Amino acid sequence: MVGAGHAGLAASRFLTDRSIDHVLLERGEVANSWRRERWDSLRLLTPNWQSRLPGYRYAGPDPDGYMTMTEVVAFISDFATVARAPVRTNTQVTSVRSLDEGYHVRTGAGDIRCRSVVIASGACNLPSIPALHSAVPSTIEQLTPFDYRNPAQLPEGGVLVVGPSATGVQLAAEIRRSGRPVILSVGEHVRLPRMYRGRDVLWWMDASGIWDQRLEEIDDLTRARRLPSPQLVGTPERATLDLNALQAIGVELVGRLAGMRDGRLLFSGGLRNLFALADLKMNRLLDSFDQWADAHAHGLDVTGRERFEATRVPASSRLQVDLRSGEIRSIVWATGFRPDYSWLDVPVLNEKGYLRHDGGVVEAPGMYVLGLPVLRRRKSSFIHGIEDDARDVIDHLAAHLAGGAHAVSVR
Ligand SMILES: Cc1cc2nc3c(=O)[nH]c(=O)nc-3n(C[C@H](O)[C@H](O)[C@H](O)COP(=O)(O)OP(=O)(O)OC[C@H]3O[C@@H](n4cnc5c(N)ncnc54)[C@H](O)[C@@H]3O)c2cc1C
Repeated sequence: MVGAGHAGLAASRFLTDRSIDHVLLERGEVANSWRRERWDSLRLLTPNWQSRLPGYRYAGPDPDGYMTMTEVVAFISDFATVARAPVRTNTQVTSVRSLDEGYHVRTGAGDIRCRSVVIASGACNLPSIPALHSAVPSTIEQLTPFDYRNPAQLPEGGVLVVGPSATGVQLAAEIRRSGRPVILSVGEHVRLPRMYRGRDVLWWMDASGIWDQRLEEIDDLTRARRLPSPQLVGTPERATLDLNALQAIGVELVGRLAGMRDGRLLFSGGLRNLFALADLKMNRLLDSFDQWADAHAHGLDVTGRERFEATRVPASSRLQVDLRSGEIRSIVWATGFRPDYSWLDVPVLNEKGYLRHDGGVVEAPGMYVLGLPVLRRRKSSFIHGIEDDARDVIDHLAAHLAGGAHAVSVR
């Protein structure tokens, strides 16, 4: 197994249950991404009651709260202990090659031969940044969410945050509250209220079955897998962090970053359409919650139907920002993440560098992946989503080892 995040640990638990000999190779420590690759103020956007792993769940005093990074690391590390996961820490996998039967795995601490490999190395190993970042003048400090820890790191002066999803809205709000002028560049986004009808919006996703939807039930799988993260933040106040909330604290909104010319960043127009689309999709989702509530939620503690103010369109929005003017001193690229398979020497990647797999069953015999967006279900890449996926994938792996696994059709 490559990686000892929650995905690798969940799979390990099912392997142990089946007495299948295995080892987890982890380049850092258990829950390494949460220790090393997140900013200081981050809390989970999923509520505590939802933090569950196979045979293990949050049992603390604040089920409706959101874990800090220290708490997430403790939660996952405790699970590793309870599950007695055979983790080798500080063991980076540098190459995986196919053998006639099985795989040769090279690590910084020696080589291993195995019949099967589970890739649980994460979906968010590298920041995904537009190529034009290399043309940004060197006077501007550029950070990714992997470098960013807190606003004190940034030079005084204006900050451009690019990307309106969970990371972008959280960092834009925090930086704005530090007193700096913030411009947020907004492309396609998923708007959600934190609370709906008296319950966490993610309770509705869970209860109404949306998060359990399987591949076969999803019309446009490619799109579902590329969907940006929702505009949510986990705070003790359970506050909504949408574009209206950001405008209310003085964040300036501009359109999608479209290019750069003569030291000027160029932004698309059309905020009105972009906002209308996000509002429409949010309202459709809320409609589906209401329909579910009408049919199923009798006797449940939910309040009446709600609708939220449309996203306010600024009277005018700038179409360009001159990076030579001194107005912007730093850029934070909150433009998404991607996996890193630079160590994988088996031809199972598509032209964009993503794994070809069918619900986690990779095209190479005995190779599996876990933890990717919508791997088998909508919830696949979330902590609570791993249990069902890991069980299915380890079932397949066990059948493979027993000589009975079926053929793969790649989706
Ligand atoms: C900013 C952010 C916020 C998130 N918030 C939430 C949230 O609120 N709730 C939620 O449910 N999910 C959240 N997620 C999604 C998801 O739960 C995390 O991405 C989670 O870390 C994924 O777990 P994983 O085990 O698949 O991968 P990871 O946790 O990334 O674990 C992979 C492990 O593999 C190791 N590794 C990688 N390459 C190698 C190699 N070559 N050799 C050896 N080891 C290697 C890494 O060090 C790492 O420890 C968030 C993700 C991000 C990026």
